[in-house]
Order: sequence, then C-alpha cells, then structure tokens
Amino acid sequence: MGRYDYDFFVLGAGSGGVRASRIAAAYGAKTAVVEERYLGGTCVNVGCIPKKLLVYASEFRDHFEDAAGFGWTVGERTVDWKRLIGNKDKEINRLNGIYRNLLEGAGAAIIEGTAHLVDDHTIDVDGQRYTAAYILVATGSWPTFPQTPGIEYALTSNEAFYLDALPKRVIIVGGGYIAVEFATIFHGLGSAVTELYWGELFLRGFDTDVRQVLADEMRKRGVNLRFQADVSRIEKTPHGIKATLNDKSELEADIIMYATGRLPNSKKLGLDAAGVETDEIGAVCVDAYSRTNIPHIYAVGDVTNRLNLTPMAIAEGHAVAETLFNNNPTRPDHMNVATAVFSHPNIGTVGLTEEEARQEYDAIDIYKSSFRALKHTLSGRDEKTFMKIIVDPESDRVIGCHMTGPEAGEIIQGLAVAIKCNATKAQFDATIGIHPTSAEEFVTMRQKAA
Ligand code: NDP
Repeated sequence: MGRYDYDFFVLGAGSGGVRASRIAAAYGAKTAVVEERYLGGTCVNVGCIPKKLLVYASEFRDHFEDAAGFGWTVGERTVDWKRLIGNKDKEINRLNGIYRNLLEGAGAAIIEGTAHLVDDHTIDVDGQRYTAAYILVATGSWPTFPQTPGIEYALTSNEAFYLDALPKRVIIVGGGYIAVEFATIFHGLGSAVTELYWGELFLRGFDTDVRQVLADEMRKRGVNLRFQADVSRIEKTPHGIKATLNDKSELEADIIMYATGRLPNSKKLGLDAAGVETDEIGAVCVDAYSRTNIPHIYAVGDVTNRLNLTPMAIAEGHAVAETLFNNNPTRPDHMNVATAVFSHPNIGTVGLTEEEARQEYDAIDIYKSSFRALKHTLSGRDEKTFMKIIVDPESDRVIGCHMTGPEAGEIIQGLAVAIKCNATKAQFDATIGIHPTSAEEFVTMRQKAA
C-alpha cells in the first residue's frame, strides 16, 4: 500500500467512523479520520447522549409528583435550564476529549476540515490532498424539513440542545423517535407541548399496541397530541411564532421544532467523482459488508440509511475494519436489533411487530399484559405498563417482545439476547422471575390474547 498516503481514510468521526478508525489503526493500518464539526458525531453531540441527559432531567417531574404517596413533602420545583445545559455541555466536552484520546491512542490521525473525494483514491480536505488505499464514508445524516411557508422559523433537534431558555410553549412536528422524545422532554421540564403528526398514529413501524399505549399515556400526562394534523404556514409574531394548521386552526408557541426525518449527508462528498452509487435520497448503496460499488470504498451508519441507530453504525464500522485489516470478512447482523424510544414512559422493542409477524407467518400467538406497576399503588399515578410477546407456534420461538413502560429500554435489552439465541416461549416460561419487578411479567404471561 506504499503508493498511498494512508491505508484507510475515514470521512466522519461519528459513531461508525470512530470505531472503524480505531480498530483499523489498532490492526496496524495507517489511518486518518477527517471531521468538519465535532468528534463523536450526532450521537455524542446532538443526539443520543445529550438527549438521554435531558430525558433524565425531565423525569424528575414524575419523581417529585410520585414522592408524596411515599410520605415525602417536596418543596417548590424550578428548572434552571442554563445550569442543565451547561452541565450537559461539560459532559459533551469531556466525551469529545475521550473520542480524541481513543483515536490518537490507537494511532489514527485526526484531520479537521471538510472533505470531498476528488477520485476514488484521493480526498481533498480544504485544499490539502491525501490518497488512500481504502476509503470509508461515515458522514451520518442531517435533519430535513418540508417546504412549508415560514419553515425558516422552525428549529430542529440540533438547536433544541442549545436554546437560551426553556420555552414555555412548544410545538413539535413529526411522529418519529425524535419528535416523541422531545415532546416528553419539554413536557417533563414544564413546557406546554403540542405534538403534531400527520398520520393516524405516531411511531409508524412500531407495534400498534405499544404506540397506542404511549399515545394514551402521553395524553394523560398532558401532552397535547394531535394526529392527522399538519402545519400549512408558520409566521413570526411579537410573542413567538404562530402555526396555521391544515384544518385552518392556529397555534401559538415560543418555538416550533421539526423532527420530520433525516437525510444522508452525502451531497457534497464528491461521490460522483469517485463513481460511488447512491439511491434516490442520497444514501450510499452498500452490500452486506458495507462495500459500495467501488470495491475499495465502504460506507457505514446513517449515510447508508439502513438501521439508523448508533450501535448499528458501530457494529458496521467495526465489521469494515475486521474485513479489511484483520483478514476476517465480517457482515454486521441487522436482524433483531433492539431499540428504545426514551419517551415518558419508554417504548422498548425487539423482533417483529404483530403486523410484521402476521405478514411473515401463517399463524402467530400473542401474549399481552397491561398492569399498574407496584410503585403506583402508593404514588397514585394513573399509568399502565404494557407488555407483549409474539410467538411462532410451530417452533415455539419468541419472535417479538414489545413494551411501553418505565425502563422499557433497560428491560428489552436482556430479552434481545434471548431472542438472538432463538429462545422459545417454553424457555421464557421456565425462567423464574425477579419479584417484585415489572420485568418478571415477561416470564409469567401464560394466557394467549384473543
Ligand atoms: P423518523 O424518520 O423516525 O420520523 C420522521 C417523522 O416525521 C415521521 O413520523 C414522519 O411521518 C414525519 N414526517 C415526515 N415528513 C413529514 C412532513 N413533511 N410533515 C410532517 N411530518 C413528516 O425521523 P426522526 O427525525 O424522528 O429520527 C431520525 C432517525 O434517528 C430515526 O430513524 C432513528 O433511527 C434515529 N433515532 C433513534 C433514536 C433512538 O434510538 N432512541 C432517537 C432519535 C433518533 P411518517 O410516519 O409518515 O413517516
């Protein structure tokens, strides 16, 4: 590989790019990673990590409310938004430093700047050219807006993490992970929140029961959820913004945040110059090994628009480094990937939804449970925890587990291992529960749902 400056050149120091760079460098590949914005990418800077910190902040509302039934008297409650954001920023800075150390410690060079491909072996970073034997595109994705008049007044989650003050009134547009999570974050912190979703029920693609239970729970808490509602115009007013909806009704708020999806960050990368194929939304087309149509150019993470989740990007990045620099061809497994929506309450899910299972199997068995968690016998909170198991009766294999309720993300992670191991319903039933927990319900459901 002596004829190139680098063995491996990675575009983007997010979750996938950092993992690939680190592992490749550790295997002895001469590696560089170029980043134009921040080390750690979306997840660390304006995604999973700061989002989860804000989720924790917003959960205190419930804790304070629930405390009275347990004998506590909680005094006046206020949120110091600036302190919260300041502390969050400190943690993000610390993580940026850790990412830098991880890369440098592994021997990868970090290049700051904006990169594009000049040809299939040459990368330009702000006028400086580098050549590489292998190139990895790991540039992530970026929020996208519809063409609604006045859309320039809208924010995305990127800006929501850096607001100067906690908005009193918030409109959120969208019905995916980000919209739902931010609706419950702002509501938990004390904002009056309206979430608008243009379809019949948000979180399309998740199991219908868990979506419905979450909608019910969010409404009980006071989130103004409006389905089949969309914004036709946004205007600035002296007091904030005004949104006119498709039914001509008007809503006023301090901010309007759009979470209407993200698009692959591929447009300015010079992929054409290198001959790399992309699809109609700009996602880089790859095979099971994350290889593009150009055999020495790979792509991982959101820019490939497969399963746009940080742990998946990490797995894909790691697999590329294994394949290229450890003589160990590795295909990341995109099946049965567990995921959570960190709403209040959480959704946690792994495997097939009921709708998917009905498509794939001639017959399925469904087990459902809906109950009030022990904690709320004293807190008095009117909250239902919901769990659902989907079984293939022929093999007895559990093919889907879904939950809406506190800590669903934590609970489903363990079940994801069971599903990965092809666990059967009989094995779930033979597992002794931990009492008293909510999670034990997953091993005590015996009655098939009608
Ligand atoms: P999603 O693609 O998940 O959701 C976009 C939402 O906006 C959908 O409800 C969609 O409706 C709706 N929408 C799309 N276009 C419009 C429009 N023009 N007007 C009104 N509504 C519209 O995107 P997100 O931005 O929520 O999240 C991006 C990705 O980030 C996710 O796919 C996920 O993989 C990842 N993520 C994961 C998290 C986690 O693991 N906890 C957290 C946050 C993000 P429709 O139903 O019609 O598609």
